[in-house]
Amino acid sequence: MTTRTGPLFTKVALLGVGLIGASMAHAIRRGSLAAHIAGHTRSPVTRKRASEIGFCHSMHEDPLEAVRDADLVVLCTPVGVFGDVARTIAPALKPGAILTDVGSVKTAVVRDVGPHVPDGVHFIPGHPIAGTEHSGPDAGFAELFDGRWCVLTPLPGADEAAVERLKTFWKGCGSRVEVMDPKHHDLVLAITSHVPHLIAYNIVGTASDLEQVTQSEVIKFSAGGFRDFTRIAASDPTMWRDVFLNNREAVLEILGRFSEDLSRLQRAIRWGEGDMLFDLFTRTRAVRRSIIDAGQDTAAANFGRNPKKP
Ligand code: NAP
Repeated sequence: MTTRTGPLFTKVALLGVGLIGASMAHAIRRGSLAAHIAGHTRSPVTRKRASEIGFCHSMHEDPLEAVRDADLVVLCTPVGVFGDVARTIAPALKPGAILTDVGSVKTAVVRDVGPHVPDGVHFIPGHPIAGTEHSGPDAGFAELFDGRWCVLTPLPGADEAAVERLKTFWKGCGSRVEVMDPKHHDLVLAITSHVPHLIAYNIVGTASDLEQVTQSEVIKFSAGGFRDFTRIAASDPTMWRDVFLNNREAVLEILGRFSEDLSRLQRAIRWGEGDMLFDLFTRTRAVRRSIIDAGQDTAAANFGRNPKKP
């Protein structure tokens, strides 16, 4: 193993400086992973705010300026515009540079970005599995990736040294790294993230449309379980619209299975099959225990919320 003497990258360009882009900038600074961090985002208001916070060394209106001479370029916008952004920056990408992304889906990113990648640029898609329901540059913080997994989905024939360098980068940001096939990534994330978000959006939508229960009752008695769904259902609408439009196949596959299981539960309730309900709830409790044992959540009651400040 070689010991690093300077920063891992000379210049990192972050295209999009919301929750994930800003958190990466903070984590890069914390880990001294780059000599220069250049940022770009499309709106002047967001650019101004990012400059005020100051997590990038330079903020650029022109994405071509941001990526010029960068040895690591990261797409951190919503997935739906990755293709456009990649097409725009392609002429300024430096030969030998690594182009990666943080998108929550991977097959569609390979489809949309792949065709724009110039020869000599290493395109290695990625997805840090870490987030909050907040968005924008103020939401970013250095610890977001600590202990969380980052999945890389290199294409067949990808440059091994470039993949290793990107792995080292994410480890420097605090992540654990796993390599996966893009299609498998999309199926895994459909069950662990995308469908749960859809269920949260749906139940919060249903509650707000109910006629027999008033909106104020829903809010007043939310601590009964509903409140935890509202945290997820407060996630960024643009990002999540793009996730569902771009992981259609895997989401529909998991939703089909989910609907069958839900029907089975409906039947168990209708026919008073208490053992079936009890067995399932016992199994699901064990899943929660495994997540805590794996260090992916806190064992504190109420997700660690202060009981005095619900
Ligand atoms: P976010 O907080 O809403 O930030 C998105 C950023 O992209 C903003 O700075 C936005 O800036 C910019 N942007 C949007 N369209 C653009 C365009 N055409 N050109 C340049 N900049 C543009 O979203 P986020 O949570 O950081 O998510 C970013 C990416 O990370 C998404 O692809 C998402 O799938 C992925 N991801 C998210 C999470 C999560 O939990 N949030 C977790 C893992 C991965 P303006 O204000 O200038 O439009």
